[in-house]
Amino acid sequence: MINKILIANRGEIACRVIRTAKRLGLSTVAVYSQVDANAQHVQMADEAVLLGPAQATLSYLKADVILDIARNLNVDAIHPGYGFLSENADFSQACKDNDIVFIGPGPDAIRAMGSKSAAKTIMEKANVPLVPGYHGDNQDPDFLHEQAKKMGYPVLLKAAAGGGGKGMRQVWEDADFYAALEAAKREAQAGFGDQHMLIEKYLTQPRHVEIQVFCDNQGNGVYLFERDCSVQRRHQKIIEEAPAPNMPTDIRHKMGEAALKAAKAIGYSGAGTVEFLLDSDGRFYFMEMNTRLQVEHPVTEMVTGEDLVEWQIHVANDMPLPKSQDELSLNGHALEARIYAEDPDNDFLPQTGLLSYLQPPQGDGIRVDTGVEQGDEVSIYYDPMIAKLIVHGKDRQQALAKLVSALHSYHIVGVNTNIEYLLRVAQSEAFVLANLTTDFVERHSEALE
Ligand code: ADP
Repeated sequence: MINKILIANRGEIACRVIRTAKRLGLSTVAVYSQVDANAQHVQMADEAVLLGPAQATLSYLKADVILDIARNLNVDAIHPGYGFLSENADFSQACKDNDIVFIGPGPDAIRAMGSKSAAKTIMEKANVPLVPGYHGDNQDPDFLHEQAKKMGYPVLLKAAAGGGGKGMRQVWEDADFYAALEAAKREAQAGFGDQHMLIEKYLTQPRHVEIQVFCDNQGNGVYLFERDCSVQRRHQKIIEEAPAPNMPTDIRHKMGEAALKAAKAIGYSGAGTVEFLLDSDGRFYFMEMNTRLQVEHPVTEMVTGEDLVEWQIHVANDMPLPKSQDELSLNGHALEARIYAEDPDNDFLPQTGLLSYLQPPQGDGIRVDTGVEQGDEVSIYYDPMIAKLIVHGKDRQQALAKLVSALHSYHIVGVNTNIEYLLRVAQSEAFVLANLTTDFVERHSEALE
């Protein structure tokens, strides 16, 4: 049984994992970089060990150092959070080799989903519907050009190794193909050290709907319904919600079943998210599977009443899933807004500085997941997310009203934030009417300025 967990992460997700571990009576070990010596996650954990300098490559990405610490402190399991080592198959393997439980899927499942093109090949075999396109090995530019012409413009060039919206280029006209391919490859090389590209038909105005799945080591799997993450800027999510508004029950269940088929095709264990694009005719297409807990998992927790980190630990203990599909149900509506230190008036440039005053909202159905407190510094070294604001209401209208009032009473002094921008999004007519598609921000750019 797992008694002691090391959290190989920082910020809000490290704090969030520690909170559940404590509630379950487990002891916790934090790791930290020099700039994080006084961080919340360090204060919350029972023990804390310095990893190294601020740069992630010298601290939070140091797999061997983290494993040494885990061994020395007799840690039973490592929770990787999201980002950093969470989708690193070698790290999952190294944990196994050291008899430490990796709280996440095994190396093979991570590897299988690590490449968007390899993942699509597996899903095709498992009969999971795909966005039409080319995801093979032939990378000859003229061949790829022929493929694009065959599927018809617009197309989307995507880095197989991509993530975080990087290494993608839309191509609307044949004349732009080669320049876009070059640009996408350059970005992919710089970001992921891998130029491999796939091409997809670019769907205009789809919704991004993703399914939360959970599998245990006994072969059982369930889906904890869906999240709508259509509201994005440069393919990065801004506001997420559960359930997806206006989702027909039959499509919800079909998508859930397809997601489970995807998870079972790779012998999945633990928490995973299968991302789909959903068009206005109710057709949906597999995009990718994320083999970790997602940033936006709290909206699922709010509407199901389940603690997904508790489920992860449960499954990591080799126990069967805590609930069957029939025992899971949806209750009300939840929204999450990502509060960032960034300047919406200056191309959303990340901001750094001292959080000289910090007053998060409080109240019934309001949850703030954060890793900072007043007096902390937002540094240049990590993701500039300050907090996630999650609200729950009996329906979407009530949840949205709560989100707006909570955003109004979120006070942050010291760095510029996107709070005003989030308010404009949340109060825009299209958002209120749940008119959600992935081009939401582009479509309403004037109203959001
Ligand atoms: P990443 O791993 O970089 O986040 P994804 O493959 O998950 O990349 O895609 C990110 C976003 O890009 C999606 O949420 C969606 O908005 C958009 N997108 C991806 N593929 C397509 C497509 N074929 N057509 C239209 N939009 C797409």
